[in-house]
Amino acid sequence: MSISSNIDRAARYIQQGKVVAFPTETVYGLGANAFNPMAVAKIFEIKERPSFDPLIIHIASIHQLDRLVLNADERVYKLAEKFWPGPLTMVLPKSNMVPDIVTSGLSTVGIRMPSHKIALELIHKSDCPIAAPSANKFGQISPTTAAHVKKQLPDVDYIINGGKTTVGIESTIIKLTDDGFQILRPGIITSKDLEEIIPFDDASKKEKEVAPGMQKSHYSPRKKLLIADKSSLNIDKSKAGLISFSGELENGYRKVIKVSERNDLKDYAVNMFEALHSFEDDNDIEIIIAEPVCERGIGKAIMDRLRKAAFNWKTK
Ligand code: AMP
Ligand code: MG
Repeated sequence: MSISSNIDRAARYIQQGKVVAFPTETVYGLGANAFNPMAVAKIFEIKERPSFDPLIIHIASIHQLDRLVLNADERVYKLAEKFWPGPLTMVLPKSNMVPDIVTSGLSTVGIRMPSHKIALELIHKSDCPIAAPSANKFGQISPTTAAHVKKQLPDVDYIINGGKTTVGIESTIIKLTDDGFQILRPGIITSKDLEEIIPFDDASKKEKEVAPGMQKSHYSPRKKLLIADKSSLNIDKSKAGLISFSGELENGYRKVIKVSERNDLKDYAVNMFEALHSFEDDNDIEIIIAEPVCERGIGKAIMDRLRKAAFNWKTK
């Protein structure tokens, strides 16, 4: 079947209140009609996601924003013009049209317009905004290929296979405040990028906004994962897989996955979850070691994911 007829079929499923997995530029999403609470409930069930963890709504045209949010000011449209379609989620006051199950009862809703052609076409053809978290079991590694989705969610109604995603980590999430923006989740759109449009609201000076659903443990492989440091030098490297960035730590490991050939942090983001999946599935590997990077710019988003992915294994 052609990709276009696959999207037609997925759109029919969305209209019928079913749940489908589809590619976006960040990771694969598990989507349902955002206006259909019963359909959205199935997402929580399939993912085993707790009901306090709100979903992001995906739109394909700026006109869809009007029905979803209240009083979007000109900053929203400026940010949308610069970063949409793309990996930026804005948390905004929600309208009554948005069912409470989508936002976990919050008065705000996270919205984004993905840039992936398949995602945009699916939303257009479904003729509704699509609520979609990442298409993985709650807390586990995010999916960047259709095979990753199938591995964790074998029973999902339908998966559109659009190949490997091109950004590889989830969107940057921001909240607008009276003074500017705060970052709720770092991503490849950085503070510096956003500051070209609106000022950074230095949350360290006040109470820092914390998004619900931001767990200390997340993106977690079912195998021990350590971020490389002095203590990881003591491990048995003959059973270990290294996620390598600089190339400087590679000696002695059973297997090495080099995430970038040109020392570019964007490549680390693109390949990180795939590397985790690959070592998780590899019977030769008992322990995964990931090389840390400097926590600036995109490095912030990478270290955010790695720390959470390694959290469960810190004391084991
Ligand atoms: P994901 O499961 O990767 O799609 O991410 C969804 C995440 O977006 C949630 O875990 C929340 O942390 C965040 N989020 C979604 N909606 C809101 C909201 N209304 N307010 C704050 N954070 C939100
Ligand atoms: Mg997720």
